[in-house]
Amino acid sequence: MAAYLDGVPLSGIIRIRDLMFTVKDPFRLDQGDISFDAPDTVKSAMTRAIAENKTHYVPTTGVPRLRELIAAKLRDKNRIPVTDPDDVLVTTGGIQGLYVVCQAILEPADEVLVPDPEWPPAAGHALLAKAVPVACPLYESNGWRYDLDELESKITARTRVLYLNTPQNPTGGVLTRSDVERLAEIAREHNLWVISDESYEDVIFDGEHVSIASLPGMYERTIPLYTFSKSYAMTGLRLGYVAIRDAAIRDRAKKALFYTASNISSVVQYGGIGALEGSQECIEQFRAELRARRDLFYRGIREYAGEVFSGEPPAGAFYAFLRIRAQAGDQSSSWRTAEHLIKNGRIGCVPGVDFGAHGEGYLRFCFARERRELTGALESMKTLFGVRV
Ligand code: PLP
Repeated sequence: MAAYLDGVPLSGIIRIRDLMFTVKDPFRLDQGDISFDAPDTVKSAMTRAIAENKTHYVPTTGVPRLRELIAAKLRDKNRIPVTDPDDVLVTTGGIQGLYVVCQAILEPADEVLVPDPEWPPAAGHALLAKAVPVACPLYESNGWRYDLDELESKITARTRVLYLNTPQNPTGGVLTRSDVERLAEIAREHNLWVISDESYEDVIFDGEHVSIASLPGMYERTIPLYTFSKSYAMTGLRLGYVAIRDAAIRDRAKKALFYTASNISSVVQYGGIGALEGSQECIEQFRAELRARRDLFYRGIREYAGEVFSGEPPAGAFYAFLRIRAQAGDQSSSWRTAEHLIKNGRIGCVPGVDFGAHGEGYLRFCFARERRELTGALESMKTLFGVRV
């Protein structure tokens, strides 16, 4: 029976992308893709792998050296007690990591607590596993964090997974250490699995990144998920990973991986080895530049579009999730305003409602684009907002 797939939505980001193709000289603030290039350590490792004909099948779960390096990174940087590189599964980006994990843990009709708003594939992967995503609101007034009592009240006998994402897409919210500690307590108390999506672990401006699996007893029930996309500007290369302590769940995830990919591109995995063996300087450089772009973008918004948008600079990730002042209360406001910005201002953005009902009334702009693209978009807003939305 494949018909259930008809009920799994394709993200509105696709609709936006199609709209963007109709625009001449667009400002692509809609895509969550950083403008930086992958570091030379990655490119030279890939070139070497090709020259040395490392172009054959490799183990399904990943090249052993890469898994060793990832296990060491999880221990040293994330403080997760990974003692065996066999826990690690290398995936085609974070998105496939989430797919194999959902397939491995979820039974039909299980409930998954998902933030609202959230990167759409989080709910999509739950649906793909025939489970039910349950929206848990994040609040702007609270730095885009949960009301944890409210989150706990959504737990039922069917709740199996708590999906966390910090720093968060689309809001840039970062959970505090005390949030993470309380979430760990909730997971233990209600016997939940945690999928901890830490794709933006390195893109943090204020506060600290805390991996929930580093807390006592939590790695046993947590599957931490990462990607090379954001930390090493490798979005198109498609490299991610998860760590799974439980052997039975890991075996299931391995099957999902095998049947969808056999193994992840060997050359890209050598690129990942280059990234982890080489200097980590790029991470700090990217973060400093992203902070400067964030500040530039918010200065421009205040100056040129302060009447239309409001919002505080995010603590992490690289998105401005701005409230639309002019259209507050209008249920179609985020799509309508996004279409106006795209068609009349050439400015790519994503309607907040695409990330969940709680995102209605907001727009997401990615500020990880080149500075001149950001200033171009801001100039365009300046012109545009002389005209009524
Ligand atoms: N998780 C979150 C929250 C994301 O925003 C993304 C990408 O935008 C991913 C995971 C997956 O990224 P990728 O598949 O490029 O590794």
